[in-house]
Amino acid sequence: MISRPMQRHNLRDMRQEEVVAFCQRLGHPAYRGRQLFAWLYRPGVRSFAQMTDLPKKFRAQLAATASLDLPEVAEVQRSEDGTRKLLFRLADGVRIESVLIPEEERQTLCVSTQAGCAMGCVFCMTGRLGFRRNLRPAEIVGQVIAARNLLAAETAPPLTNLVFMGMGEPLANLANCLAAIDILTDQRGLDFSPRRLTVSTSGLAPKIHELGRRCQGKINLAISLHAPNDAIRDQLMPVNHTYPIAALLAACRAYPLPRRKRIMIEYILIKGINDADTHAQALGRLLRGLRVKINLLPYNPVEGVAFHPPSAERVARFQEILWQQGYTVLLRQSRGQDIDAACGQLAGRASA
Ligand code: SAH
Ligand code: SF4
Repeated sequence: MISRPMQRHNLRDMRQEEVVAFCQRLGHPAYRGRQLFAWLYRPGVRSFAQMTDLPKKFRAQLAATASLDLPEVAEVQRSEDGTRKLLFRLADGVRIESVLIPEEERQTLCVSTQAGCAMGCVFCMTGRLGFRRNLRPAEIVGQVIAARNLLAAETAPPLTNLVFMGMGEPLANLANCLAAIDILTDQRGLDFSPRRLTVSTSGLAPKIHELGRRCQGKINLAISLHAPNDAIRDQLMPVNHTYPIAALLAACRAYPLPRRKRIMIEYILIKGINDADTHAQALGRLLRGLRVKINLLPYNPVEGVAFHPPSAERVARFQEILWQQGYTVLLRQSRGQDIDAACGQLAGRASA
């Protein structure tokens, strides 16, 4: 008979209740599981030996059956504007990135949810590279832990906001993203407020419904819309063939937003494609009655794509038309372009 090496369970893939159940299977009471879960997310904990108030026998049992693996930071690159890109090498050699963006009153981490992306949006570097694999909960949460440790070592202000806007389509890896969200927002876990967490999607409408049901609208939702009609969106984002704008906006309407919250509509402005006055007017009509704010972002150049950002005047005019229709319209500044850390530029490559 062939004996297979025993599969170790990574405790950092598990929600609190899953850690508790795991401990109960090992013959321990629930409170030990809760104690163990809290240890997993204390700063600097790397081994069971550090968990000094757990009985020694229990620790030995854990060391034999479970692991505490987190993704390893391979490199940190710094942009002229202070943005930093964290490159991770995962256990199987796959590379992913997160981007740490300091702002005046915030410190935001842009987290990856997949290695690569299968959605194929034509303007996006991650999409052009194709899909490698889904990230596990520990690989998603691990990016946050690494960023937290990096900031703590510098005595910099702590992380305030998390956005699932790095590599990958979060809603195509919804089960693992939901586990990660539960761990990130668990008071014994990383204790982030769900109000400071945003999930961005290219428009998997049924999964938006599921996210809404599962998180009861507590998580912020961002929609990568990028077009005022199906004809343009079909050309830019293949997902639109499956879930056209009407289905996408119906899912937005059904999302259980708390009062005073709004859905973020992301709109990349691409010269000559979706940046005309008529497009701004059509976008305003399309979104009428929805509780949204609009985030405009001039297209960031991507290797091998023949698109360009519009002029500053065109961007200003587009913004003005939406303002006149009564929308809140933010103009997102592109950060970290010099280190390929800006939106749509993440490729999982080390610096040259
Ligand atoms: N897959 C999800 C999450 C990634 S978020 C989504 O698409 O929403 C990454 C954001 O950067 C998305 O809004 C995406 O549309 C945008 N983006 C992609 N390529 C870009 C580019 N070249 N310039 C500017 N924004 C880009
Ligand atoms: Fe994937 Fe989002 Fe890039 Fe589209 S924009 S390819 S969904 S990461």
